[in-house]
Amino acid sequence: MSRIHKLSPRLANQIAAGEVVERPASVVKELLENSLDAGARRVDIEVENGGIKLIRIRDNGTGIAQDDLPLALSRHATSKIDTLDDLEAVATLGFRGEALASISSVSRLSLTSRPRANGSNVSAEDAAPLIQQEASAEGAWKVEAEGRDMDAKVSPAAHPEGATVEVRDLFFNTPARRKFLRTEKTEFGHLEEVVKRQALSRFEVGFSLRHNQRTIHSLRPAASMQDKERRIAALCGSQFMENSVVIDVDASGLKLWGWVALPTFSRSQADLQYFFVNGRVIRDRLVAHAVKQAYRDVLYHGRHSAFVLYLELDPANVDVNVHPTKHEVRFRDGRLVHDFIFRSLHKALADVRPDDRMNLNN
Ligand code: ADP
Ligand code: MG
Repeated sequence: MSRIHKLSPRLANQIAAGEVVERPASVVKELLENSLDAGARRVDIEVENGGIKLIRIRDNGTGIAQDDLPLALSRHATSKIDTLDDLEAVATLGFRGEALASISSVSRLSLTSRPRANGSNVSAEDAAPLIQQEASAEGAWKVEAEGRDMDAKVSPAAHPEGATVEVRDLFFNTPARRKFLRTEKTEFGHLEEVVKRQALSRFEVGFSLRHNQRTIHSLRPAASMQDKERRIAALCGSQFMENSVVIDVDASGLKLWGWVALPTFSRSQADLQYFFVNGRVIRDRLVAHAVKQAYRDVLYHGRHSAFVLYLELDPANVDVNVHPTKHEVRFRDGRLVHDFIFRSLHKALADVRPDDRMNLNN
């Protein structure tokens, strides 16, 4: 029998990566979350070969100090929480401190950054893609990791305020994982979906997405309702926009707003259903059930509703640390949330149902 021994950090990270890094889309999700947590107002995404060959994400957020660069790549290192109390009311998308460690253990990763000077503000006004902006060689640093998170070397670089993460050759050192990747087209489909969700979750942030040198999305920051609807139309189709109603309900510490499609705009698949809880896209059975119930009487059997909905509540009343990908949440008062969602949607739909209108007229 062989003796018990500690796994090397690299192997430990590769094992942990199994939970978070499934495909290029999961890398993009983690990197976008980091950019948003860093307060970026603009995020440019470039990918090649469905993200398998290259994922490059540049943001104009706070950036990372030179001394922190190697730490950013090591496991269980985060700037987002300090104590268990912080975790109870976490407001950032990330907090587990393992994404970069995991990703860098299964790819060739580089992180380049110039920390934002104290007091300097990011502007959403810069319409030019960050990639094209001039990079100052002063105060910018780069750290690289190739399938490991130890002894990462920091070297001087040129970069504007913010950060760029480049991930090349995903799973180059884990052939078993690489085998599970699908075609470039399928992988890009998943990746684009992730970008869509993030773009729907942060209207105030400008996004661009390029694939194999082609611009797929270019979204300016959206402030007014009209701008928001334009972004939704760009991402979900103008048909959806034209066939949906606005909902905005605020009661007992819960706020639900967004757009729900009229029952006449039902889908054969549940592919246009976006639900955000405090800016985080989630898939939750309780939420799904509440929505389904609300549509129950107005949709034909087998048809699916379409919606883009935002639920906002005190972060202390929702636990996001349920799963490493943080797709699931646990509400402190699930019943209250369920009833609130159901009643709000039911009313919104009833208000536009022709039958009901007829009833009112009678
Ligand atoms: P987490 O997001 O859970 O903290 P990550 O491994 O994703 O863990 O990132 C580690 C740390 O690196 C973050 O806590 C943050 O301080 C820093 N970081 C990562 N990406 C960025 C970015 N784009 N801009 C600024 N800081 C970043
Ligand atoms: Mg993160």
